[in-house]
Amino acid sequence: MNTVGFIGLGIMGGPMAANLVRAGYSVTGYDLAPGGVERLREAGGNAGGGVAEIVREADVLITMLPDSPQVEEVVLTPGGVLEHAKPGLLYIDMSTIRPDTSRRVAQAGAALGVRVLDAPVSGGEKGAIDGTLSIMVGGAADDFAAARQVLEVLGTTIVHVGPSGAGQTVKAANQLVVGGIYALVAEAIVLLEASEVDPRKGLDVLAGGLAGSRILDLKRETMIKREFRPGFRVDLHHKDMGIALAAAREAGVALPVTGLIAQLIAAARAQGHGSLDHSALLKVIERINR
Ligand code: NAD
Repeated sequence: MNTVGFIGLGIMGGPMAANLVRAGYSVTGYDLAPGGVERLREAGGNAGGGVAEIVREADVLITMLPDSPQVEEVVLTPGGVLEHAKPGLLYIDMSTIRPDTSRRVAQAGAALGVRVLDAPVSGGEKGAIDGTLSIMVGGAADDFAAARQVLEVLGTTIVHVGPSGAGQTVKAANQLVVGGIYALVAEAIVLLEASEVDPRKGLDVLAGGLAGSRILDLKRETMIKREFRPGFRVDLHHKDMGIALAAAREAGVALPVTGLIAQLIAAARAQGHGSLDHSALLKVIERINR
């Protein structure tokens, strides 16, 4: 279990792979973009030449890719992970993707003796760098137990939430709550300012009462200052709201507030704010009012 392959060395995957190197694992990484591989090498890891090369050697394989199509391409297509995996490979997908895609990947893996977990994360770039992510894991209990040591390098809150796909469902729930809180904090700021009440004083009081949240704690100052450097991009949150709505449809439930938040995030994107932090929802609420 000492040889880890890591595919997807972006904002999140890069520091996660580096933390595994620091913890003593032999990590070989691959990314379409050469910069991520170079940074891993500087951190003491190995540069892999491609998916096949990494997977053949790996006891544990981690992917941290943008979305479902990239995971399907890397894992399921000819020349991908499943074609080259050693029997018994432990494959942990930490990307945020659709729960039904995670289930399909797990079934395809099981047919070939590959143990598959979906393990999306929350905690952002800072959590990835500090190794303090929250990790929600779907899959078999034995496979979760086998993955625990590796996951403990990457996160501090690590919970086995159910069978394959359950990790992604919990992440979808996380993202709809986060989107909703951002939208309401934005509306609170617009209301306070339009009423000529100091938004700093107003939100300070909110943060100490029942309306308090980590988003208010961490983001109220930058939102009031209109600083929207990402962080977590609007584009990625747009993707996650699509996942939440697809999961709701599959589960046969209506989530009306989630639908509205998804539209507001879509508007942020349509207004050209896709690469800003998702707190830029404030720009959409302001524009509705002008
Ligand atoms: P990112 O775009 O920075 O990184 C993704 C990396 O995957 C890129 O470096 C890209 O080159 C690489 N990639 C894409 N297709 C590939 C392929 N076919 N083969 C090899 N490499 C490929 O994205 P990120 O911010 O690191 O996010 C990764 C995942 O984590 C997403 O699903 C995102 O929703 C989730 N996430 C992100 C955050 C955050 O704050 N950024 C927080 C929690 C979860």
